Amino acid sequence: MKLLKKIFFKYFVYYPIVLLRGEWIWSPLRLFEKSQNFNREEISNIQISKLNHILKKSQNSIYYAQLNLPKKVESLDEIKKFPFLSKETLRNKSQMLETGKSGRHTTKTSGGSTGAPVTVKKSATAMGYELAAAWRGYSWAGIDIGDLQARFWGVPLNPSMAKKAKLIDLVTRRIRFSAFKFSKPELDLYLEKLNSVQPDYFYGYTSMLNEISINYLQSERKFDIRPKAIISTSEVLTESMRDNIEKAFNCKVFNEYGCGEVGTIAHECSHGKLHINAENVLIEIIDEEGIPLPENSIGEIVVTDLNNDFMPLIRYQIKDFGSISYEPCNCGVKLPILKDIKGRAYDFIENENHEKFHGEYFLYIVEELKSKGVIIEGIQFIKSKGKINILIASEQSAYDKSTTYIRDKLRHGFSKKIEFYFSKVENIPREASGKIRVIKSEDQL
Ligand SMILES: [Zn+2]
Repeated sequence: MKLLKKIFFKYFVYYPIVLLRGEWIWSPLRLFEKSQNFNREEISNIQISKLNHILKKSQNSIYYAQLNLPKKVESLDEIKKFPFLSKETLRNKSQMLETGKSGRHTTKTSGGSTGAPVTVKKSATAMGYELAAAWRGYSWAGIDIGDLQARFWGVPLNPSMAKKAKLIDLVTRRIRFSAFKFSKPELDLYLEKLNSVQPDYFYGYTSMLNEISINYLQSERKFDIRPKAIISTSEVLTESMRDNIEKAFNCKVFNEYGCGEVGTIAHECSHGKLHINAENVLIEIIDEEGIPLPENSIGEIVVTDLNNDFMPLIRYQIKDFGSISYEPCNCGVKLPILKDIKGRAYDFIENENHEKFHGEYFLYIVEELKSKGVIIEGIQFIKSKGKINILIASEQSAYDKSTTYIRDKLRHGFSKKIEFYFSKVENIPREASGKIRVIKSEDQL
């Protein structure tokens, strides 16, 4: 019965829907199955050919046309001479990046690691490649299209978006568990539901998977929840988090790394290495001066999307840090490995009723603000006893609009016992580690 359901969803629900959306995943899936075993030169050849297509298309965008980039490169080294694309440019000049290509596309807005949302338009073909790379990565965890997913994720704050999310969950066989606002009794209900539906795998924010695992380990009620794998995403997975999750559910955790602007970038294999989707993205690691670093050196991650000719992202600075390695992996996959990632880490913020809010809850508010045309350059939420300090880097008019909006939205979750203090700042200060933490909790109530 379980197998029949999976086959039904895969062939009669999921495939027809991606077909209708024009997101052709079959040919990339077939290619990826072979290309994961390609050597470095073969992968480079794919990257050069795709980069040349992107370069050619980019001439049609106002932004790239004025950069006078070559229409063609002979080697990947040539990209090192191209300028970087910053988040600020993407945020403020996104329309200028569009190639004017007509056709189907998806618009994605994401908060990213700095808390200032950016919007990217991605062609249906590029979406197909993105989905195919994710499914290939999940196949390393033993997961197939049609498997039942328990999703620990946000629930859109806007009612029409929430409805759309419900529909997507239905057709992609996901059961959503809100990571936005939950109390201990709610976590117990989550466990009860997981026990009764027995999902094939879990997917979610790393810190949320950790929370549910700790709750499960401490729970007096003994359930028998047996997913075959757990995929953690969006935040740094520490060794202690991995231990908690694996101990609780007695299965392996597979980490995923990516960003909203380009989709997934790397997936963990059964031997614990994050293999880069090198057929979809070209990853460079640079130092503080923007000079590309050699293998195994930690620096800033720069990504070029090799599929999105609707809005090319060439040498895009995602503001995470890591290193790249070409060491062989025992799993057999020959794709390069991403290591030492220093990406997002969120604190939960707790209200006086001991309900916890995931960091993405706050970022969804900022993303909604962007959809209303209010653009900010950065934001930070700092919770300390009895108050939340909100630092906003923006122009005065955007600051005025955003404070009213954010205050109103936060009041849904936090009573008047919690004061909100807003400050307009030049920029959001970095931690000693160099990272910007969008959500910080200096103490809990
Ligand atoms: Zn591997």
